[in-house]
Amino acid sequence: MTRADHRDEPHFLRADDGTPLTLIRVRGGREPTRGPVILIHGVGMRAESFRPPGIRSLVDVLLDEGWDVWLFNWRGSIDLDPVPWTLDDVALNDHPAAVRHVLGITGASAVKVVAHCQGSTTMSMSAVAGLVPGVATIVSNGVSLHPHMPVVSRVKLHVLRQLVRAGEPYLDVAWRDGPETARHALTRMAIRTWHVECGNPTCNMASFALGAGHPALWLHSNLARVTHDWLRYEFGKIPLSFYAQLAASDRAGQIVAIRARGPLPGRYAEAPPKSTARFALFTGAQNRSFLPSSQKETFAFLRRHQPGRHSLHVLAGYGHTDVFLGRRAHHEVFPKMLTELRR
Ligand SMILES: [Zn+2]
Repeated sequence: MTRADHRDEPHFLRADDGTPLTLIRVRGGREPTRGPVILIHGVGMRAESFRPPGIRSLVDVLLDEGWDVWLFNWRGSIDLDPVPWTLDDVALNDHPAAVRHVLGITGASAVKVVAHCQGSTTMSMSAVAGLVPGVATIVSNGVSLHPHMPVVSRVKLHVLRQLVRAGEPYLDVAWRDGPETARHALTRMAIRTWHVECGNPTCNMASFALGAGHPALWLHSNLARVTHDWLRYEFGKIPLSFYAQLAASDRAGQIVAIRARGPLPGRYAEAPPKSTARFALFTGAQNRSFLPSSQKETFAFLRRHQPGRHSLHVLAGYGHTDVFLGRRAHHEVFPKMLTELRR
């Protein structure tokens, strides 16, 4: 299976607050023999992020194993019109709607998910709040209920507040290109001066926006050249409303609601999870976006309440997003995820 064999079936749906979303059902050469899996992208990314060129992607591997693959563009996707969002908005409105849609179309009794970064955080929030009872397994990468960031990232959260004061609704990785205001140009120049590790402006901007390190989101040695070039046109707007919730959660030591609403708890890792979903938590040992202690603490929380149910994988030689984009991920990472999905 390669990208050329995929046949895409787009589905248009609305979140529970009316926000437009899309799902892409990906068909391979034969009918699926296993149940539905929803892939949930990270912040500033999109459903397509799971199909980079130059590698055997997770989508290829899942289709070859007979899974029914659904790529989800939640409201933070750069393929949708930008809206300011919080993690609460996504947990409350997007994931429950997507899970219901897939269950309704397929007739399956449960779905499994593979979720990255803030796709994982928000799905984990939906699960522990009891909003997605149809999810049986959550393969989570990078971070879920406890965002632990490098000190430099925490300092940057304060810098970003200056953008909020200046009235910017978004930090845009595409400021690499312009057209732009003087503020955008200055931001870009400062970032490119700081990030001399490669000449890819998106790689530099993403390092600034989403982590601490040179680069922050992957080890260059893990990426095929064609994948690194492709990144040039990936990543987009990240709303400062998200950073505000991340900063509040950082101070609290766990994800906290930005304001109390309906079934959402004030603190997400306080009460026992209202979920029977099994979590398989993954992170790279060299993750410089969210430190590996993020997933370790969530694993400890889950194990305390539901002993023997969940698992934790710390991947040597990996960072944050190279877990999905790495040129050896189909050997070193995806088999572990498939084992978790089959359990
Ligand atoms: Zn780079």
